[in-house]
Amino acid sequence: MIGKAVAVDPGIFQVTTSERPYRQLSFKTSGISLLPSLMKQPLDSLNFDNRFTRDLPADPEPANFRRQVSRACYSRVLPTKVAQPSLVAYSREVAGLLGLPTDACESNEFEEVFGGNRVLTEMDPYATCYGGHQFGNWAGQLGDGRAINLGETVNADGERWALQLKGAGPTPYSRTADGLAVLRSSVREFLCSEAMHHLGVPTTRALSLVTTGEQVMRDMFYDGNPEYEPGAVVCRVAPSFTRFGNFQIFARRGEIDILKQLVDYTIRTDFPDLGEPSREVYLEWVEEVCRRTAEMILHWIRVGFVHGVMNTDNMSILGLTIDYGPYGWLEDYDPNWTPNTTDAGGRRYRFGNQAQIALWNLVQFANAIYPLIEEVDPLQKALDVYSGGFEAGWQTMMAKKLGLERFEGDADEKLFADLVEVLQLVETDMTIFYRKLSDVSAEQNGANEKSSEEILSPLLDAYYVPDQLTEDNTSRISEWIRRYIARVRKDGTLDEARRKQMNSVNPKYVLRNYLAQLAIDKSEGGDNSMVNALLEVLRNPYDEQPEQEQHAEKRPDWARHRAGCSMLSCSS
Ligand code: AMP
Ligand code: MG
Repeated sequence: MIGKAVAVDPGIFQVTTSERPYRQLSFKTSGISLLPSLMKQPLDSLNFDNRFTRDLPADPEPANFRRQVSRACYSRVLPTKVAQPSLVAYSREVAGLLGLPTDACESNEFEEVFGGNRVLTEMDPYATCYGGHQFGNWAGQLGDGRAINLGETVNADGERWALQLKGAGPTPYSRTADGLAVLRSSVREFLCSEAMHHLGVPTTRALSLVTTGEQVMRDMFYDGNPEYEPGAVVCRVAPSFTRFGNFQIFARRGEIDILKQLVDYTIRTDFPDLGEPSREVYLEWVEEVCRRTAEMILHWIRVGFVHGVMNTDNMSILGLTIDYGPYGWLEDYDPNWTPNTTDAGGRRYRFGNQAQIALWNLVQFANAIYPLIEEVDPLQKALDVYSGGFEAGWQTMMAKKLGLERFEGDADEKLFADLVEVLQLVETDMTIFYRKLSDVSAEQNGANEKSSEEILSPLLDAYYVPDQLTEDNTSRISEWIRRYIARVRKDGTLDEARRKQMNSVNPKYVLRNYLAQLAIDKSEGGDNSMVNALLEVLRNPYDEQPEQEQHAEKRPDWARHRAGCSMLSCSS
């Protein structure tokens, strides 16, 4: 057994009674032989309590083949062994959450376990059954097709963290695909999860990124030219990975008793503050999911994140950003931009449509819960929490982004709406714009006497195409800035205090699409330094990091149309 700690200090031979048969001694420490089972292993400190598999109905079929699974929340399945797991990077913060010390993360056992080669005795690996609406259409059973949950750990503070390998081989839910992930998409998932966390955006986390030593065939452009790419596995970490689709599948199939079990389980486990499940509590829970979802979307808007595939199976019940696929970061502010090539036609998942789509998804979620309520009005009321929460949240968020003391009604609403227009007049880097706006002085008198060029000068870095700054555009942008200055002066906030406030919500460093791609290019060539460098920079996204200016620069021209930088495919 590897899982549980047996109290043996390395180097000290300690006689214990063991029920395990004595095998040939094969480990040596300081010249003294130890039984493998008595040796403390690096991951021993993980303490598992696998409530999901213990409390919810399992698929009785133990074999791993693709199938429709009914009346079960999950199927037990083991990760597929890989040729040569090798650690690319790990997050020390996530390791900290799990109580894993550095030496454990840098151990051979860590690579083996989080590459999918070894399963600790206390783990109980499984894939969950879920369905979902993809691009607005019901898609039937989807499920964890390439995610394998290892189990739930409970840390020293009593926090429950589920561990999940993404790309660890096929499961009963893999449909026609291989259950694997390539290094390209795994770097993107690993870095973005951690970047989002440090930005203060609710998200699933990533413990580790491990290459498998295997080659995986992918047709990246869906153009009939598949190529081999290096395979990789990310270990994701979250309190739970339950999605809207986990509930939808049972409602759709009329398996209402299982639906109720999963709802009760989720409330007890993930929403314990709501109290014991009841009809009232179900409604409060739906409200809470609406509240959290609104909050998540507001954060996306704040930092310029576009998820790219907001299908209902990619919506976390906890309001966490989940499933980092063809996501992207707004560079020039374009609410119509979608990073996902599959979405290019309808642009359903474009930046400016995310708030609407979240509501559409919540409606599907409420429909799934309907059989437990059997009345539309209270569910409708619960859904209204989303719209109300979103609108009030948007006003507060915009006020903060602009360094205003508070939202003050219609005049501010107009100021915000006009800013959204101004940002689209010419190609404007959203991140740099907000950051530089904090350098515009409101303390100095005489904004009205200054020329438009002078007013605009602190912001010049934000513009991609200087030629677009025609006289007319310059004057329209500076006109808005003059109004903004007047509004700040009304608050009387000093420049320095405003800069501090704005810089705490407007990041300097985000995972720019081209930066992720450069890190991927290097990693594919065997050099993981940029993945680790980005991980480090993105730990403090709001700080000025003078050594890291190159990671705050706007997208270079070569990246404008390069795949992976401006458009992403779902092939991952
Ligand atoms: P996504 O749109 O990436 O969230 O995936 C939609 C569904 O396809 C989910 O059920 C995934 O588990 C499944 N899926 C995506 N990629 C793969 C893959 N390479 N192998 C197996 N299943 C996959
Ligand atoms: Mg998904």
